[in-house]
Amino acid sequence: MPANNPEWLTDGVGHVWRPYCQMKTAAPALAVDSTNGVEIHLNDGRILIDGIGSWWTAVHGYNHPHIMAAISAQLAKMPHIMFGGLAHEPAYRLAARLAKLLPGDLNHVFFAESGSVSVEIAMKMAVQYWRNSGATGRTKFLSFLGGYHGDTFATMSICDPEEGMHTIFANVMAAQHVVGLPVDAASTVALAAYLAEYAHEIAAIIVEPLVQGAGGMLMHNPDVLRTLRRLADAHGMLLIFDEIFTGFGRTGTLFAMQSAGVEPDIVTLSKALTGGVLPLSCAVASTRVFAAFWSDDPMAALMHGPTYMANPLGCAAANASLDLFEDGTWQARVSAISAQLTIGLAPCRSLPGVVDVRVLGAIGAVEVDKSIDLKRVASACHAAGCFIRPFGRIVYLTPAYSISEPDLARLCAAIVSSLS
Ligand SMILES: *Cc1c(COP(=O)(O)O)cnc(C)c1O
Repeated sequence: MPANNPEWLTDGVGHVWRPYCQMKTAAPALAVDSTNGVEIHLNDGRILIDGIGSWWTAVHGYNHPHIMAAISAQLAKMPHIMFGGLAHEPAYRLAARLAKLLPGDLNHVFFAESGSVSVEIAMKMAVQYWRNSGATGRTKFLSFLGGYHGDTFATMSICDPEEGMHTIFANVMAAQHVVGLPVDAASTVALAAYLAEYAHEIAAIIVEPLVQGAGGMLMHNPDVLRTLRRLADAHGMLLIFDEIFTGFGRTGTLFAMQSAGVEPDIVTLSKALTGGVLPLSCAVASTRVFAAFWSDDPMAALMHGPTYMANPLGCAAANASLDLFEDGTWQARVSAISAQLTIGLAPCRSLPGVVDVRVLGAIGAVEVDKSIDLKRVASACHAAGCFIRPFGRIVYLTPAYSISEPDLARLCAAIVSSLS
């Protein structure tokens, strides 16, 4: 470890267990001092342009003054209060605003703190929906190859069994139905036949609409979502959209489902919900789902309640983030980013080792083969003043919508030259 490291880093490095990390062989983490806009200011004085937006959360850029002010105002009044038996303005306003923004009758918002937990809650809602409706056999889920829904045990069981990062837990997890997406006539017929056999034990279909993010930035046509709605209805199953990555404008519409004109029975939201500032998530249920819990029977209630659910600071940040979406300018920004990513990453297509280049909304992904060392690519980009974090065989950009044209050009150029 270089001698000029700050004292907190040398003191803590033996005690912090880092995410998705082989601690023995991993390169040291970059020490960050502060953030501003799309800049990451490192402790050693270097400034990196951020191509990732802190795991796809920081859609307005870092330290946005409107969000910072909203959190400060809430902090002065009440940083936290339990949600059991108590109500507060930030959460109630946020729930009403989300219900209004979401299509259809997705009107009933259950808050949590992380994406994985919101997916767990959606799964629990789906199973109990059937139980409360008198059907006890529908306890399993149908999910898709390439999918990612979280790192907890229930969510791991519905991730792609190979790409989902959880293969070593295969025999510990609940067995689910993980199949190919119905992307064409043949796969649609195959899925329909599969459902004819297994639908009676399936509570819900769950899918990341339009883009399977952590599974490899795999993109599909909105028709797939229409097919899933049709099949779910035909077999009486619920449909869950996991919009934790795609929600809040990332794919070009406020929610990815809007590009297909399809509504699920439950949607999960997190990542960009607070503009990347505080941990918050929710599972939002339709009237049909909520109605199955509306009963005189205490056993029919949803027995869930994370300690920090609906944290007032997080809800204040989310409300401020929604304010920033209100004038609609984000949409032109996302289109401009999309166009620039398409042009900026195009030179990758002719480079050896590049398998595919995909762009949707403010997502640009370059898929490479095994001949490319992505650790080397990442450090070359860092040396060029650009922060990226490839995973699997994917180098990608998910910048803040506020990124300038020159900064995005620098990110694209850094990827092109580090792959060359
Ligand atoms: C990130 C992500 C999750 C998990 O969210 P966490 O907050 O990391 O638990 C679930 N689903 C999708 C689609 C995601 O992108």
